[in-house]
Amino acid sequence: MSIASRFAALRAAIDAEAKACGRDPDSIAIVGVAKRQPVERVREAVAAGLRDVGENYVQEAQAAFARLPPVRRHFIGHLQRNKARAVVALFDMVQSVDRLEGGAALAAEAERAERILPVLVQLNVSPVERFGCSPDEALRLAEALRRFPALRVDGVMAIGPLTEDRSAIAAAFLQAAKTFGRVGGSTLSIGMSGDWREAVRAGSTMVRIGTQLFGERATENV
Ligand SMILES: *Cc1c(COP(=O)(O)O)cnc(C)c1O
Repeated sequence: MSIASRFAALRAAIDAEAKACGRDPDSIAIVGVAKRQPVERVREAVAAGLRDVGENYVQEAQAAFARLPPVRRHFIGHLQRNKARAVVALFDMVQSVDRLEGGAALAAEAERAERILPVLVQLNVSPVERFGCSPDEALRLAEALRRFPALRVDGVMAIGPLTEDRSAIAAAFLQAAKTFGRVGGSTLSIGMSGDWREAVRAGSTMVRIGTQLFGERATENV
């Protein structure tokens, strides 16, 4: 199947799931996750209508974005303080702020660049996930981040638990949705290739899809 038809099929499936649970399909954005994918596949998806592209690695993103038409660029990887300048230069939005130190570094660079940077608080709702903060910390972190004029805290991002237990996935996403309700903002970024249906049912406004859209990833960085 071509990337264009994969994108159309994914969009149609998400729209159908949204309608089935009484939601407006237009309230759910698709971020195509380009990590370790050949950039040609990403270009094809953008040509077919993909508007949002996510990357986990700064170097790879630099190479990929240079070869893509304008898209909304989302940083979804682990945020290291010493990469804050490069992240602010390369991305429109940072979804993975899980500590005040990282947020402060982004705020300093955004201020330097005279930008307001939209960020999401990364929440940990999975026993095996290394990154993200607890639901209680999320509220405190969001409050602290909101004191930086150069940041706009726009919601919550979470990675679902790595399990085949659908009810455990649904429960984790409900917890993310609840925390999103308390943090506020317009973006609840939950749902990947294996669990976007549960995410849509829990209220996701942004799914991050890699393999279902682009196929299997290379095991090494491309
Ligand atoms: C890799 C990745 C995705 C996409 O994963 P797939 O299972 O390939 O859809 C989404 N979000 C984050 C944070 C990722 O690292």
